[in-house]
Amino acid sequence: MATGVSDATATARAEISRLFRMPEPDVLSGLLKDARLDSGERARVENRALGMLAELRSAQSSGWVNQFLQEYRLNTSEGVALLSLAEAFLRVPDPETADLLIADKLGNADWRAHTGKSHSKLVNSATWGLVIGRALVSDTQQASVLKKLISRAGEPFVRQAVGAAMRMMGEIFVMGRTIEEAIGRMRKPENKGFTASFDMLGEAARTFPDAERYFRAYEDAIHAVGKVPEAGHSISVKLSALHPRYEVAQYDRCVSSLIEQVEALATLAANYGIAFTIDAEETERLEMSLDIIGTVAALPALKGWDGLGMAIQAYGKRARPTIAWADAVGRATGRRIAARLVKGAYWDSEIKRAQEQGLHEYPLFTRKAATDVSYLACAKDMLAAPNIYPAFATHNALTVATILEWAGESRDFEFQRLHGMGEGLYETLVREQGYHTRIYAPVGGHRDLLAYLVRRLLENGANSSFVHQLADEHMTDAEILADPVEKIAAVGGTRHPGIPLPKDLFGPARKNSEGIDLNDKTELARVARQVSFVPSEVEGRSRNRISTSLDTNDESGVAREIVSRALSAYPAWEAAGIDHRAACLDRLADLLEQERDALMRIAVQEAKKTIPDALGEVREAVDFCRYYAQQARDGLQPVELPGPTGERNLLRMEGRGTWVCIAPWNFPLAIFLGQVAAALVTGNTVVAKPAPQTPEIAAYAVGLAHSAGIPEDALILAIGGPEMGAALTADPRIAGVAFTGSTATAKRIARTLLEDEERPIIPLIAETGGINAMIVDSTALPEQVVQDVVTSAFRSAGQRCSALRLLVLQEEIADRTLEMLSGAMDTLIVGDPADPRTDVGPVIDRQAYDRLMTYRETQQGRWIKTIDAPRAGLFVPPTAIRLDAIEDLKREWFGPILHVATWKAGQLEDTIRRINRSGFGLTMGLHSRIARSADDVEQLARVGNLYVNRSMIGAIVGSQPFGGEGLSGTGPKAGGPHYLPRFCAERVTSTDTTSSGGNATLLSLNDVGI
Ligand SMILES: Cc1cc2nc3c(=O)[nH]c(=O)nc-3n(C[C@H](O)[C@H](O)[C@H](O)COP(=O)(O)OP(=O)(O)OC[C@H]3O[C@@H](n4cnc5c(N)ncnc54)[C@H](O)[C@@H]3O)c2cc1C
Repeated sequence: MATGVSDATATARAEISRLFRMPEPDVLSGLLKDARLDSGERARVENRALGMLAELRSAQSSGWVNQFLQEYRLNTSEGVALLSLAEAFLRVPDPETADLLIADKLGNADWRAHTGKSHSKLVNSATWGLVIGRALVSDTQQASVLKKLISRAGEPFVRQAVGAAMRMMGEIFVMGRTIEEAIGRMRKPENKGFTASFDMLGEAARTFPDAERYFRAYEDAIHAVGKVPEAGHSISVKLSALHPRYEVAQYDRCVSSLIEQVEALATLAANYGIAFTIDAEETERLEMSLDIIGTVAALPALKGWDGLGMAIQAYGKRARPTIAWADAVGRATGRRIAARLVKGAYWDSEIKRAQEQGLHEYPLFTRKAATDVSYLACAKDMLAAPNIYPAFATHNALTVATILEWAGESRDFEFQRLHGMGEGLYETLVREQGYHTRIYAPVGGHRDLLAYLVRRLLENGANSSFVHQLADEHMTDAEILADPVEKIAAVGGTRHPGIPLPKDLFGPARKNSEGIDLNDKTELARVARQVSFVPSEVEGRSRNRISTSLDTNDESGVAREIVSRALSAYPAWEAAGIDHRAACLDRLADLLEQERDALMRIAVQEAKKTIPDALGEVREAVDFCRYYAQQARDGLQPVELPGPTGERNLLRMEGRGTWVCIAPWNFPLAIFLGQVAAALVTGNTVVAKPAPQTPEIAAYAVGLAHSAGIPEDALILAIGGPEMGAALTADPRIAGVAFTGSTATAKRIARTLLEDEERPIIPLIAETGGINAMIVDSTALPEQVVQDVVTSAFRSAGQRCSALRLLVLQEEIADRTLEMLSGAMDTLIVGDPADPRTDVGPVIDRQAYDRLMTYRETQQGRWIKTIDAPRAGLFVPPTAIRLDAIEDLKREWFGPILHVATWKAGQLEDTIRRINRSGFGLTMGLHSRIARSADDVEQLARVGNLYVNRSMIGAIVGSQPFGGEGLSGTGPKAGGPHYLPRFCAERVTSTDTTSSGGNATLLSLNDVGI
């Protein structure tokens, strides 16, 4: 794609890529030097900043919101209760649920402790409101007296009061419900001298119609602002609002569409002579946004327009070269790029995501002071860059004072602040000293403001934030204005000790599995090439080996022989000891990581996994090996048990003999190796039978296990279908069976194990399927629900045991949620799993395809939504089907088919009981902001894994042990602390230590102190 590339832009882009994965101290060492103030500068900056603190404090003592936020901080449970009430309340349509939400949030907090504490009368009256509100929503006698007092106005009164309070909070941070209202408000005296950049509120678009709606809103805003060009206002644009799939994997379709849309908006803005800035979003989107901005900047039609702007996040390691890039683009395209330097709004979620993805390094700094240092170094660059018009967005007095020091006499830049924040900081600068300050002014209705409101409340409430520190009476001015350069230099630029690298997430005892950054376009392209590769020689060899063992009709003969070999290997393997066996698993984990590309290739080609699923598969297998190695070392050592003096009781956990492990095709590496690793590390030898659909990846894994030091006869691969499974489990010499698959087959195995009267009773660990339901109430955030439903129901083509099969929506929100769900389904791509764009691949085989398609056809009259899928191949179109009642779904449909039913407000318990009655008990989901509802579901749901306010798939080894109950399996949970003991024989030796003469130990006790 042409991006207006010059040598300088190319150099800057290369630097941007390089810094991303650099360790934090290395990035900071360059920044520290440029952010440092000499002693004269520092004294002047501190002096100026002290003056600003005084102005800020006096401005804010008059603002009741600041006082309110000070009283209810996020480190108090009351502050958190108000935050979560604010996040959800305004979107709840039905009074019954709204009351439950209020009771939930007001009911548990100690509002009384806050009465009369604030300097503000308004805050104190609000606190009394909360005290009364709490009393009203509780079940006490006092509540009923109060309710009588307020008579019939009782609960609606509380609801109305809370609603009004939330709307007021919204108004503090939102400039107007419409662009006209917002422009009007900017004319009010309190905004005199300031300009605005209007932002059309709303979260990222989830559907194409949503994105169109946002595009029109931006267009309308440009027209409205364009009509008053003399006011100097501008527009801010979020690219994620303009495309529902603004993702690296969807680069080809989203970037070209976004370029078109930004071009259209930019042209409109240029015609009016107004400016617009592209907001900075999640770090994975940075490079895409640069491609878009670079292309638009190079458009001949926009030549000479200086209004194109972009935000740059100082918390990112790549901030500085991004500024160099903007300057180079400005030079190459003959304009000044309006660069807005921010610190960044997504710090907490970005850190979490890097941990989940197992990345090598964080893309952001991990100390607040490091972000400040970066901000200062970037600011210095911007002031010196000839092709940048600098805009400094901050509410931090020290940051502002430093920039003023460096800017000297220049006025050729502007400050920016958010509406509702930083009042008092800029008034003197604007009205008396002629500096330009712009207010970022969100525009939107109440429903759209919630997510934004929460971000602002978080920003105001976080301990590390300047606005929070300013309001904290315990902090001295010296602490607030401490030099960030000194702070970072003092710790040598090291990472925050409380934020370990993703690989160290599980502590020193166990390394986390390594991820691949699939949001790195170059890396994604490399992986895509790898997984599409024609099978290599090594794989060819494993294929030959498989075919040899398949060339037989004598399954029981082969099974007998394999079991005999495994039995004879058992004594030596058991005797090798825990440490030796655990070390083999650790080596196997390392080998799996070394061979990750090859394994992912087989997972894609043989098991038809998409690229992210194939990566997840390898990572899970690695985690299983390391986790069970650690569990064995820590938990399987002999334990001396307490008892009367004169005897020794020793409990030992030992192998049982030879286990048969039977794995499914849907996790042909992770579940396959998980079972095998657990059986092996506990001292058993293993005959491992993969599913007939996925022998290659199993053979590859077994090959690696042997290379890792596991003897060939301690782990033997048995290829074959049901006959082989039947023959192996029928062998009376085996010591246990670990099985994952259908409930029917699990029952058949259970019967086989009991058939022979002579045979010992042996353990069966079975993990089977489920009719997994997700319950959604009207407090849930629809955008999050829809995203989690799509992920849970359709990712992996619905071929996960944990996948969502039954969505149960509260009636009041069903239509709206289903409309958004249909729109989100329209954005899915069904196709070749090796293609990075693919969301949903084919189902595993023709038999599965025919079964699913036939069922889907019979339900045609009930389709809520289905989408296109390629005709050639085994592609089952993702489909949502309406049910009249929860009970109508009687069995598990193992594919991308989602059933939808509804429930009535007030009937949560009944709904859970009805779901329980299916007899399955694997996973359940709940989306609700009412903590008591989560407690109810936790108590009543008979499932192994409950997921609250998140997707229902992707259990992480050691964090989310996985497995069900009832028709869904026997337990114990894979990847959990109780799994290994089930593979062991527990043996206790009790020795009378006095038998050889008397209790010498007892008699030798000293009488201390006598
Ligand atoms: C006009 C304007 C436009 C904005 N546009 C955007 C935008 O497009 N994209 C965007 O992401 N944000 C945007 N923001 C939000 C902005 O990121 C925050 O308001 C800003 O970070 C607050 O910085 P501060 O200097 O006011 O406060 P400070 O309190 O000095 O800094 C707080 C910031 O430090 C960072 N931080 C906190 N803890 C840590 C830690 N442990 N390690 C590293 N860093 C940490 C966080 O980024 C936090 O926001 C915008 C803000 C303004 C004023």
